[in-house]
Amino acid sequence: MSLAAIYLRLSRNEEQLNIEEVLSSHRQALIKLANQHHLSFDLYQEISSGVNTERPELNKLLKSLDLYDYIIVMDIDRLSRDNAYAEYIKTMLIAHDIKILTPTGTIDLTQETSEMTYSVQAMLANFEYKQIRKRLGRGRLAAAEQGRWVMSNQVPLGYKKDQNQILKIVEEEARIIRYIFEKTKDRVSANEIAKQLFMLGWKSRNGNVLTTAHISSIRRNVVYYGVVAACRRVNGRVVDEVFVEAAHDPIISKQHWLEVQKILDENTTGNFFNKKKATRRLQNLLFCNHCGRKRYIQTDGSGTDFIKTCSYKISNNACKDKGIKYQPVEEFVIQKVKEKEVDFRQALSKLKDSDTSNEEKKLIVQMDSLDKQLEKLNNREKNLKIMRMDGEITKTDFLDLSKENEEKINQIKQQKELITIQLENLNHTEEEQERLELCIKTLNNLDLLEAEECNTFLKTFIKKIWFSTNATADHNTKKEPPEVTIEIEWL
Ligand SMILES: [Zn+2]
Repeated sequence: MSLAAIYLRLSRNEEQLNIEEVLSSHRQALIKLANQHHLSFDLYQEISSGVNTERPELNKLLKSLDLYDYIIVMDIDRLSRDNAYAEYIKTMLIAHDIKILTPTGTIDLTQETSEMTYSVQAMLANFEYKQIRKRLGRGRLAAAEQGRWVMSNQVPLGYKKDQNQILKIVEEEARIIRYIFEKTKDRVSANEIAKQLFMLGWKSRNGNVLTTAHISSIRRNVVYYGVVAACRRVNGRVVDEVFVEAAHDPIISKQHWLEVQKILDENTTGNFFNKKKATRRLQNLLFCNHCGRKRYIQTDGSGTDFIKTCSYKISNNACKDKGIKYQPVEEFVIQKVKEKEVDFRQALSKLKDSDTSNEEKKLIVQMDSLDKQLEKLNNREKNLKIMRMDGEITKTDFLDLSKENEEKINQIKQQKELITIQLENLNHTEEEQERLELCIKTLNNLDLLEAEECNTFLKTFIKKIWFSTNATADHNTKKEPPEVTIEIEWL
């Protein structure tokens, strides 16, 4: 039987009720919890006052950690509200491989197991919470690798999930998907398809009208040719990806799907019948500094490019921000972009300076310690077998002890996996360096790039260019024109 320490603490100043009564009810709750988990226990309890931060009982408990497998508390706060001290306690508990139990299900961080038992790593700090999430993510990814639909609770239109989490075609919905892909292949715009679906009365699973946005995302979704795609992110970065073809029955053949992608890719401006590619470097980057809407570029009769006068209506008033010759605006922006090289170089040298070797050392030390623990546990396993063979322990004891040992081994293996990932993550710094180096190189050859390539490159680090002539279309041309605004919003 495992042994637990029940720790009870109340602060005198925070309780209006009879403090002995509260203490007793907490005690009952914790004892009940110990019984539920078949744990024998020792009691530690104390009442602190606001001024007095001494906690002799807690200290006594911390000195006897060797004895225990579990600590049972009302909530984690009871152990310490002071971060530094909590950190210390955490280290102690990890070192002694002690788990925490609380009566409420509120610290249900993982759903990994239905038990309320979580290693203290999971609870006391955000860092450990992330670890659990990483592990969870990997569990999901492993399921996705088997073609199961697990990354989202929502099942895409056209499919349902069977008991093995494999997608199955729902014929009534699938016809909508086929319709959308057919029409797209005929170069019908999403807007037009939306209208047609509305007229057919074909709606989403919940009876909602399918919008242009729905249609746009449906025709890009790989799920429809039988793919389960999933990825795992750590700090926003994709660290692991799964892409399984033929995971389920396709609604659209792969060939059809690819043909549709090609048509969509040709259509960069959003106008389905305009198959022209970006012919200007600032295409789709210019936005009106007055009304926030996109500004369009047009060629006049003599072949000169103009930024068109803004004609968006804002509550019945048209914006009317005046147009201007395009070329000088482009030159200005390109100049600013070239000046950005300094920033890129700074970021690069900062990256090169940032030394991750300390972090790496720390992880390697942790790994070493885990290896040692693992070795110890493996030895224990062997010893248990010998003891059993020699008849020193009963079969029940042997099974119990082996099971306990095995659980510990699994825990350590998981922690080792985690450290392996963290070590891999350190390598991402190098990738970022390469990206910046490439960026600088491209920047130096900017004038050699085709308009479209340049446009694509600019979009990798420019979000929007805010532009305004600050004059209205009916501006009196005899007056001195106001200064033009060009502000670059970097990504
Ligand atoms: Zn405007």
